[in-house]
Amino acid sequence: METQTIIDYKELVDSQREYFNSNITKDVNFRISQLKKLKKILADNEDLLDEAIYKDFKKSSFENYATELALVYHDINEAISELKGWSKKISVATNMANLPGTSYIIPEPLGVSLVIGAWNYPYQLSLAPVVPALAAGNTAIIKPSELALNTSNAMAKLINENFDEKYLKVVEGGVEETTSLLKQKFDKIFYTGSSNVGKIVMKAAANNLTPVTLELGGKSPTFVFNDADIAITAKRIVWAKFLNGGQTCIAPDYILVEKGIKEKLIDKIKEEILTIHGEDPQKSEAFVRIINKRHFERIVNLIDKEKVVFGGETDKSDNYISPTILENVTFEDGVMQEEIFGPILPFIQFEDLDWAIKQVKDREKPLALYVFSSNSKTADKIFHEISFGGGMVNEAIMHLTNSNLPFGGVGNSGMGSYHGKAGFDAFSHYKSILSKSTIIEPPIKYPPFTDWKKKLLKILVE
Ligand code: NAD
Repeated sequence: METQTIIDYKELVDSQREYFNSNITKDVNFRISQLKKLKKILADNEDLLDEAIYKDFKKSSFENYATELALVYHDINEAISELKGWSKKISVATNMANLPGTSYIIPEPLGVSLVIGAWNYPYQLSLAPVVPALAAGNTAIIKPSELALNTSNAMAKLINENFDEKYLKVVEGGVEETTSLLKQKFDKIFYTGSSNVGKIVMKAAANNLTPVTLELGGKSPTFVFNDADIAITAKRIVWAKFLNGGQTCIAPDYILVEKGIKEKLIDKIKEEILTIHGEDPQKSEAFVRIINKRHFERIVNLIDKEKVVFGGETDKSDNYISPTILENVTFEDGVMQEEIFGPILPFIQFEDLDWAIKQVKDREKPLALYVFSSNSKTADKIFHEISFGGGMVNEAIMHLTNSNLPFGGVGNSGMGSYHGKAGFDAFSHYKSILSKSTIIEPPIKYPPFTDWKKKLLKILVE
């Protein structure tokens, strides 16, 4: 719309840069107080946050806490307790050529940051990157996804009513607003969403040589071997795949199952779905809906009815797709041509592990990869040969909750990482300083360049 394309965010960005340049945000105590404030605002308004996410997804209050707010609270708490250490000057050794002298690195905030969130975990994906942005001493503009409208409204209300926009501001909107924002000069852009839009963001960032972190998606393979504990494997796969209706960037996208256990595994998975979600998952409090009609249609089109061995029920009026298992899938099938991002679990059987590894390597680098096996050598081989963002042995998704593990993709699944110290690093520049003594000034740098000077130089620098 004409009115939307002319939105100009220059004033907002300028005001944040002016505020940043005042150095207020560099004070570590200020940063800690703002993180505490953010946590309090969220904690005091959980009812409002619950209500909004229920409207967007029918997501329960429990899941809102477990999969969204708990991670944000954890990251805030960790940043508060670690911040003084993270932001300290780091002393390093000085090389011989610069003695006497001292060398150190100063972590400094980048400046004005832009955080663009995705809709699938709307609170977590907009707020978890803001925590390190503020912890590192930046100002931030948050652009939540317009697809999860109620949660976007809730974040805008809570943040914009409680923070000065010079420091932290939520800008709501879709493509037009984001396009206008991206025309501004930021000091850091942190984007979560599809790889296609990731390219648009990176191109825009290139105009100002703005550093980016891109948290993108892809198809995350899940290997299951004959020696896996089938009961626990089925349980964990069902939880990870159907969490959030399959709309999780690190959900197991498809199963690569070793010949010999396919039937047993599928039976166990069916049993587990019935145990967790009952005969009618549409009535389950733990099964969320597809975000909108467009995604509903897209996912339904990926279901090849001939290959359905479980589920396959849909209700357009409710954006509902039941947990669905597809058997005898090939890499040529429609469901294998894009990230599913919905509750469909395709099975591809393999006999030769090298063939299976090659299939994965012939495609874009995954964001996550999971191996279910009791033989650690099998996992080691796969981890050695396939490049991917991060992964797990005998479990899925939970690696995200360990903030000691930097979270991010590689290649088409992303660039850079965050959570814990990695998040602080993503929003910081490490400024290197060498402070030289004035006690002596050896003549070696200066002409005449004699042989003995060259010999000494070799000793000093090599
Ligand atoms: P999306 O790319 O459609 O939207 C993400 C954000 O980009 C939104 O804020 C949206 O307003 C904005 N946007 C959309 N089109 C734009 C355009 N043309 N120009 C500028 N901005 C635009 O992604 P999505 O559908 O919200 O998310 C799904 C994808 O995100 C999946 O691939 C998923 O795997 C990935 N994802 C990755 C992570 C991760 O942490 N790596 C987390 C969640 C989702």
